[in-house]
Amino acid sequence: MAKKEFKAESKRMLEMMINSIYTQKEIFLRELISNASDAIDKIYYKALSDEELVFNKEDYYVKVTVDKASRTLTISDTGIGMTEEEMESNLGIIARSGSLAFKNENEAKDGHDIIGQFGVGFYSAFMVADDVVVISKALGSDKAFKWESLGADGYTIEPYEKETVGTEVILTIKENTEDEQYDDYLEEYRLKSIIKKYSDFIRFPIKMDVTGS
Ligand code: ADP
Ligand code: MG
Repeated sequence: MAKKEFKAESKRMLEMMINSIYTQKEIFLRELISNASDAIDKIYYKALSDEELVFNKEDYYVKVTVDKASRTLTISDTGIGMTEEEMESNLGIIARSGSLAFKNENEAKDGHDIIGQFGVGFYSAFMVADDVVVISKALGSDKAFKWESLGADGYTIEPYEKETVGTEVILTIKENTEDEQYDDYLEEYRLKSIIKKYSDFIRFPIKMDVTGS
């Protein structure tokens, strides 16, 4: 399967994320949960106006799953999902180039949490993960796809099996370093406190499931 390259600006952003120059790496979880919530919003509003779509409130949720043995942290949602084309265009490029330029100029100056104010979105996953997989099935599609990237040198997309509409973002959490305890991002108490801090306002339930040790 051919590996595709990120667009130049995305590559720059990715490199910043991978090298983790930011102190508040924990905000990756806020970004991924807000994407999940946005995706559920989209399907929710569609269901309100589409009589063919019947949903119950219990059908809308975000789930955070930890498997310590495989070092994976998964953020899944029952949102609208992405087609292959949407994966290509939404995950392959950075849309907010304006804020990226702003960050470049200002981050170094005061070391302030500019990233936290703007939100850098999906790519912030690379601050804590060395492998990011997105499995998604779009509403109205009978096919699912898997997007995967190990970092700045590109990504792959291939057909995949997924029963239900929605998206799973699977992070393989980095190994600890002298400076950073990445293991913390596999701990329930730590994840819960990050969620409480940043995602308390999310209007869909955030469920959690932790296995392995
Ligand atoms: P933003 O949320 O500001 O648009 P992101 O980098 O966070 O930027 O996400 C980029 C895009 O990828 C989103 O706009 C959306 O189209 C798509 N996306 C990301 N996560 C999901 C998800 N869980 N479900 C559906 N689409 C998603
Ligand atoms: Mg986002």
